[in-house]
Amino acid sequence: MIDEHSRDMPAADFRRYGQQLIAWIAEYLNDPRQYPVLARCQPGDLRRQLPATGPQRGESMATILQDFEQVILPAVTHWNHPHFHAYFSISSSAPGILGELLTAALDANAMLWKSCPAATELEQTTVAWVLDWLGLPSAWFGMILDSASNAVLQAIVAARQRAEPQSRASGPSGRLVAYVSEHTHSSVEKAAIAAGIGQSNVRHIAVDAAFRMRPEALEQAIQCDLANGLTPFFAAATVGTTSSTAVDPIEEIAAICGANGLWLHVDGAYGASFGVVPECRHFLNGVGHADSFVVNPHKMMMVPLDCSLFYTRHPQLLRSAFSLEAEYLKTDAPGAVDYMDYGLALGRRFRALKLWFVMRCFGRDGLAAILRESLRMAAWLGERIGADERFELVAPVIMGLVCFRLRQGDAETKELMRRINGSGRHFVSHTVLDGRFTIRVAIGNIRTEQRDVEELWDNIAKS
Ligand SMILES: *Cc1c(COP(=O)(O)O)cnc(C)c1O
Repeated sequence: MIDEHSRDMPAADFRRYGQQLIAWIAEYLNDPRQYPVLARCQPGDLRRQLPATGPQRGESMATILQDFEQVILPAVTHWNHPHFHAYFSISSSAPGILGELLTAALDANAMLWKSCPAATELEQTTVAWVLDWLGLPSAWFGMILDSASNAVLQAIVAARQRAEPQSRASGPSGRLVAYVSEHTHSSVEKAAIAAGIGQSNVRHIAVDAAFRMRPEALEQAIQCDLANGLTPFFAAATVGTTSSTAVDPIEEIAAICGANGLWLHVDGAYGASFGVVPECRHFLNGVGHADSFVVNPHKMMMVPLDCSLFYTRHPQLLRSAFSLEAEYLKTDAPGAVDYMDYGLALGRRFRALKLWFVMRCFGRDGLAAILRESLRMAAWLGERIGADERFELVAPVIMGLVCFRLRQGDAETKELMRRINGSGRHFVSHTVLDGRFTIRVAIGNIRTEQRDVEELWDNIAKS
């Protein structure tokens, strides 16, 4: 089982099980429809099947793989399944999976340039490539993080550094105010809590009929806080909100932020990837004025979890907020970027590798074609639902998301969702829009085909 010299699995076994696993993955990707998309188990079911303590002696890979298939897999909800329409539908593409495999093999830590020059420089290169594909300012500093939640935390801390430089030494004053809309992702409010801004200093600005932040309400709230002696310092606008994929009026919000000295963070975690498609680039109008910006290639760019790109025009503020030089981390590499100085994390995975694989394998045109097809299928489903008098489309279908409900009411809509998911064939999720229960159908998996969406429509329509 274990090689005496390397103390690891013998190379011949690694090759054999590696080939077996790649063959399994190829089969899985070829037809994920053989699995029910939603795990069919109750809380605790899996834990009861697993021993309470780890094995004293090593076990054979053959047994471990067998348990993976028989015990673990039934408790897996298949995100990489063409019938996964809950939350946001995402994809782990084959080139991304291969890149991830190499990342694990190299096990490089991208904390310093010196700790792995390739990891740092490929990160710099790929974040610049994505900026170019999105048509955003090439001068922006970018880095790869695990999540949009951590990106906005870094943005808030940098904005805090600008508004109250003394906060690094002695903590924030409690007078800083941040602005989000009623539909901004909860990660922004969480970040404000973590950064010591205080939850009561986060204002939730009203939205219009299409769930977009109302700029005049933002202006009003800022003036009101200024009149009360508070310090407005940060606002978050969204390209593709989580509930309905609304796009806030970024140009107008940026003008208000500029006039009042607020840091503007644009959350494009889900929606900004569509900027790769030339006819959708308008979603990003005004984003070039932002102070910071996030997009998650692990959502709509076919890259496996996790890969979140964080950009800012103020890298020096990030450094002033985060840099602490420990003696054992000092290096002499003039001109090099040491990414650990620009954020919270010291240890950083070599995530650029999988992003590079995906970008090179698909190319911009290939990626745009995949996104276009998701948009087309979402629009198709939106038309079917909109034309059926039993249903009501609750938000315009602009990206890969269809929000609808039964006109009868909340109880009936909930029952419809229970029935769709109960079939085991499809997985949809819900939100509340205008105070009413709404079903969300996300379309975005690379393997979702027209026939899948037609089958889903049959499932919805037979209610
Ligand atoms: C998914 C999402 C987030 C959270 O992203 P994480 O990377 O999971 O932290 C934030 N904002 C929006 C608009 C999202 O769609």
